[in-house]
Amino acid sequence: MPAITPDTIRDLAAFDSAGAPVTSCYLDVDGRRLRKHQDVEQELEALLREVRTQANGTASVHDDLKRIETYVRSGFDRSTTRGLVIFSCSARDLWKVIPLPVPVRSRVIINNVPAVGQLESVVQELDRFGVLLADRQRARMFVFELGELVDRSELLDELPRDYDTRGEKERGDVAPHVDALAQQHLRRAADAAFTMFQTQGFDHLCIGGPDATVGELESLLHPYLRDRLCGRIAVAPSASVDEIRRAAIVVAAQQERAAEAEMVSRLRDAVGSGHRGVAGLDDTLAALAEHRVEVLLVSDGYQASGWSCGPCGVLTAVGRRCKVCDGEMTEIGDIVEEAVDHAMAQSCKVEICIDNADLDVLGRIGALLRF
Ligand SMILES: [Zn+2]
Repeated sequence: MPAITPDTIRDLAAFDSAGAPVTSCYLDVDGRRLRKHQDVEQELEALLREVRTQANGTASVHDDLKRIETYVRSGFDRSTTRGLVIFSCSARDLWKVIPLPVPVRSRVIINNVPAVGQLESVVQELDRFGVLLADRQRARMFVFELGELVDRSELLDELPRDYDTRGEKERGDVAPHVDALAQQHLRRAADAAFTMFQTQGFDHLCIGGPDATVGELESLLHPYLRDRLCGRIAVAPSASVDEIRRAAIVVAAQQERAAEAEMVSRLRDAVGSGHRGVAGLDDTLAALAEHRVEVLLVSDGYQASGWSCGPCGVLTAVGRRCKVCDGEMTEIGDIVEEAVDHAMAQSCKVEICIDNADLDVLGRIGALLRF
């Protein structure tokens, strides 16, 4: 699976089609839902049927759809791919296939630019994530990216064997010694986690194991790792890698939802005070045109039609004369995707917010402004 970096997405967002339409195809190919290859072909066929009518008379889009269809029909490895993202602009030689280990929402978008919003959202959700599991003898450290295991390390420090079965009185004199060994083990576990952080790097760390152990382990972590702690995970240190992977995805999603909620709350305050914040499609597009956007916030799944100015590139909700340059504007099927792309090309941060009712109330789109 090729690594997707923020550069991959920014490069796509910066792609200049010089007016030619760009086809973006998101296809859910999850083998748990679509068992046979034929099911995938049907999923694609249903999608393409919808857009073929829009593509009426556009040779480049027609070629894009043909090429996407041929690619999907010829088959690809579905053991590791659950979502497929394809960007194509036949008129300008753009063809990029990005297989993802996680499912996507099936959709085909024909715009002036690659529709990178959903791809960005997936990458944000599943950025590098560390999981540290430990009890008094065992420690396991994992790093996941895009929901897949990237690296792991395991360590086992044996305690005196019958430690746990000995009576309180009997073990009286060995107990301090055993506690010291257990503490030494946790220190080694914390060191192993830091070594993994230095070699692999990750943005968040969650930690699991018996409460007493986890509490002590947290206090032994390097400050860099303590800063990245994002909660505890309810998985036994002996769990299977798949159990751990699934639990990590849940925590990563919670972490991302919390980050989104914080950003939306900043937006709400900014809009409320009338200082450095706009909400709603019109005002957000206007701020984007003036290059004032620092963070663009969009509700996941929000779509709206709008207009794009040929001569100056400005986006608006209402056309057809450009208010900036008086140029002729063209109608765009999904102005929201176009706005996400513009924002990324301007190096703004883009936050796609999932299930955030506060942002929905604000008009499903908004921006924190630089000035
Ligand atoms: Zn214009």
